[in-house]
Amino acid sequence: TRAFNFSAGPATLPETVLRQAQAEMLEWNGVGASIVEISHRSADFMAVAAQADADLRTLIGIPDDYAVLFLGGGATTQQALLPLNFAAPGQRVDYVLTGHWGKTAVKQARPYVDVHIAASSEAGGFRDIPAPAQWQLSNDAAYVHITANETIHGVEFRDVPDVGGVPLIADFSSSIASEPIDVSRYGVIYAGAQKNLGPVGITVVIIRRDLLERAGQPRADIFDYRSHVARDSMLNTPPTWNWYLAGLMFKWMLAQGGVEAFARLSQAKSALVYEAIDNSGGFYRNDVAAAVRSRMNIPFFLPDDELNARFVSESKRAGLLALKGHNAVGGIRASLYNAMPLEGAQALAAFMRDFQRRNG
Ligand code: PLP
Repeated sequence: TRAFNFSAGPATLPETVLRQAQAEMLEWNGVGASIVEISHRSADFMAVAAQADADLRTLIGIPDDYAVLFLGGGATTQQALLPLNFAAPGQRVDYVLTGHWGKTAVKQARPYVDVHIAASSEAGGFRDIPAPAQWQLSNDAAYVHITANETIHGVEFRDVPDVGGVPLIADFSSSIASEPIDVSRYGVIYAGAQKNLGPVGITVVIIRRDLLERAGQPRADIFDYRSHVARDSMLNTPPTWNWYLAGLMFKWMLAQGGVEAFARLSQAKSALVYEAIDNSGGFYRNDVAAAVRSRMNIPFFLPDDELNARFVSESKRAGLLALKGHNAVGGIRASLYNAMPLEGAQALAAFMRDFQRRNG
């Protein structure tokens, strides 16, 4: 009865993970209570937290000189904490805009720092990534911020840009763990869990430890990454259920073959959908430059709004959920996160061809 769910987030999770969580919801690991009913400071929960940390480090390949935090507040909160922790008041910071989420990062940073837009593809409708050689980086920036994958515009960095000695901070919310990455090229990586890592409610922040020595700006303890690191992400009550579920996801991803396996799967799934678009003779349209098309989120358009709407309602009846595009761009969007099986992308591509045959 479970449909293929193409939601951009909260997104589909593997049935095996959901079943395990369901079974453990009432009684967990012989403790006589649910995992959501025990203290985060109990030895039982601390073991869950430590295992999740270890598994994420293995999965992503996180070196020891990086701290890993599991925090509430979502990716948007991190976008405000970044300037508070890593830049002096009013200091210059460089942002590269390749879609909607880069703009939210700027909005969150502006009250605290001197935001400089080093490059932007907004004038062209966020359909490309400006060549790094053309970026106007500042000499004195505290960091450079990019969005590794733009969830709404469907634009993804395929190479790590070289920004010299300045720490590169990347929002990996919608592509983390979908392919191998070289963590050592980044100062900070952050990602809300609700796409590739589990259910919404927890955010992973990976910070090169030397950056924690930066004074940053006057801020409350709860906004201080150093304090969170010192207390192993338990400065206050963490979202224990989400942390536990993310831990199940990490184990599942490792068992599936890790990020190398998901890189192959993502490539295969996205190729199926892009082929259906590109071989449609213009019936379906994706405007993103081929070299930076996202493997995770594929926005596309039919010839008119009426066909877009019919596509959404008929696909839903065919067991393909949540294909309506984001309001900011309209049209259709297919999200193909790690928990989406190849069969889901095959079913979507087949539906697209059939819909075109009937309506083209
Ligand atoms: N960054 C990216 C790339 C996203 O896709 C999203 C949400 O979809 C966000 C940030 C915002 O995340 P949150 O809702 O967890 O604050």
